[in-house]
Amino acid sequence: MAKKQFKAESKRLLDLMINSIYTNKEIFLRELISNASDANDKLHYISLTDETARGETGELFIKVTADKENRTLKISDNGVGMTKEELENNLGTICKSGSLQFKENMTESEEKEAVNIIGQFGVGFYSAFMVCDRLTVISRSYKENEAYEWTSDGADGYTIKTAQKEKVGTDIILHIKDDTEDVKYSEYLETYTLKRLVKTYSDYIRYPIKMDIEKTKEEGEGENKTTVTYTEEETVNSMVPVWKKSKGEQKKEETDRFYKDTFFDFEEPLFTISVAAEGVVSYKALLYIPAKTPYDYYTKEYEKGLKLYSNGVMIMERCGDLVPEHFRFVKGVVDSDDLSLNISREMLQQDAALKTISKNIDKKIHTELKKALDNDREKYETFFKAFGIQLKYGCVAQYGINKDALKDLLLFRSSNQDKLITIDEYIKTMPEDQKHIYYACGETVQKINTLPQSELVKAKGYDMLCLTDEVDEFLMNVLREENGKDFCSINSDNADLLDESEEKKAEETAEANKELLAFVKETLGIEEAVISKKLKTHPVCLSAKGGITLEMEKYFAALPGEDKEKVKAQRVLELNPNHSAFSALSKAFSEDKEKAKTMAEVLYSQALLIAGLPIENPSEYAEKVCSLF
Ligand code: ADP
Repeated sequence: MAKKQFKAESKRLLDLMINSIYTNKEIFLRELISNASDANDKLHYISLTDETARGETGELFIKVTADKENRTLKISDNGVGMTKEELENNLGTICKSGSLQFKENMTESEEKEAVNIIGQFGVGFYSAFMVCDRLTVISRSYKENEAYEWTSDGADGYTIKTAQKEKVGTDIILHIKDDTEDVKYSEYLETYTLKRLVKTYSDYIRYPIKMDIEKTKEEGEGENKTTVTYTEEETVNSMVPVWKKSKGEQKKEETDRFYKDTFFDFEEPLFTISVAAEGVVSYKALLYIPAKTPYDYYTKEYEKGLKLYSNGVMIMERCGDLVPEHFRFVKGVVDSDDLSLNISREMLQQDAALKTISKNIDKKIHTELKKALDNDREKYETFFKAFGIQLKYGCVAQYGINKDALKDLLLFRSSNQDKLITIDEYIKTMPEDQKHIYYACGETVQKINTLPQSELVKAKGYDMLCLTDEVDEFLMNVLREENGKDFCSINSDNADLLDESEEKKAEETAEANKELLAFVKETLGIEEAVISKKLKTHPVCLSAKGGITLEMEKYFAALPGEDKEKVKAQRVLELNPNHSAFSALSKAFSEDKEKAKTMAEVLYSQALLIAGLPIENPSEYAEKVCSLF
């Protein structure tokens, strides 16, 4: 029979995987057992609504059998099995998951990166080729009477033919490779190794993993005493899922391993939250927060959700309703006996028990994060670095519906203290005369700290929240105030940085220079030119009037699309009346209007540059500067 080819990319990936990914070859067993367990789950689930599905299957189990003589290792299950089409589709290609589309046109150097990606998705069935040179799958689907045999040597395709199999389920038969100098593959035929691997990787699998264990016993008395060997079937795993164990029994190693295996992370989780809730709705949950932002976290491929089990049966791989959007980085498992098993996805959304659980989970996560914020700042900052932006978006979403629940978890870079602080901590250090919580937006903390308009704030000894994320300004708009203090941009006209007499003086200066200011405004075609109440040593700065700030303008300008031109801040040029540049401008205004025009243009360009906005014609600007010398 002609061999069918693996799809091209699959082949490439296969080589990549078998030869390079895992130095850790032993995980193949975990992968195969996990597939067997899934197959059993599926049949169990189907049989809840279809009594005939299970047929004569009886107890669901997994069996691992080693045959040293023939160098084969067999992993059997009595789950759903596969039809001929399923064998082709499921095993003939590994390009179903989205991750693998990355693979096309990959250069050598990108392969390393790809290896990481594959790792995050789990290697699955194909990992068997790390230890075997021929793989045979004999399967009979619960839907059919016919069984099929799929065989492949990994390298160039597979064959499928009809086969004999009495019962529904799947046998995966690995023909173990010959030993090499580096690797002793025979190890995978040894009972003690296999037992250890099951214990290590698959202890919590819900179905008994059985093995025939060779035992010895003494028979007879005295001279007739002989040692007899016999085999006995043993269940090797404890079958208790980690999340079902009591908190005290959950060892860190075990919860970490469960996390890594289930959610495909190389690193240990930063937070592990174990919940055992009793009450109107009882449930157990094991929740995790990764130590790093998953590589696909900010793409639309990333789906939030927790694995949902009911009565020990997985009913949903990723139940999105269990975690709120602002904690979408949380991964984990929820298991409750109070959920109806036959429930459909649509009904699940309406389910009251589920709602109770999700509310409760929201609170638990918050409590745990707050605890770390208060007691383990370093850990919290690691978390915030990975997911802080998510919390900020959480505050802003839906017009700030959740801001009160989330704002105590926010951190901002302080200008005075050179560290991350909470809003509360900012307020605690405020001098008594300070009326507002000041903030400034910019590309980097360093740039913010050198903004001309931050001078007065700093001179007064006030601290400033330095905001560098795009969402920050929207966040300030949503938060509005805390403890009676409003969030105030240092660009604001109401920043209250002058005392009464200074204020009065500024107004008088403005009045006295009315014509000059009108001239500047006219010349530059901007919204306004004003006497600044923020500057100390700098000659000018730029601010905005109305709802759209300069930062928002920058944000929209960076977006793709054509409408971005429409979002423009109404520009205000602020002049420092105590600066020699102002005196020079004023002088030119009365003596030489052309020169005054050039000066106004130069000052405006300078303000744009400092604000991080582009100037239209840099060489013209340079010429104008020189013309003033
Ligand atoms: P994954 O398990 O991540 O989907 P695998 O490569 O391990 O990827 O398996 C591919 C598919 O083959 C599975 O999704 C499943 O549909 C099917 N499969 C694998 N092993 C079995 C099995 N023992 N019984 C039934 N179906 C299986």
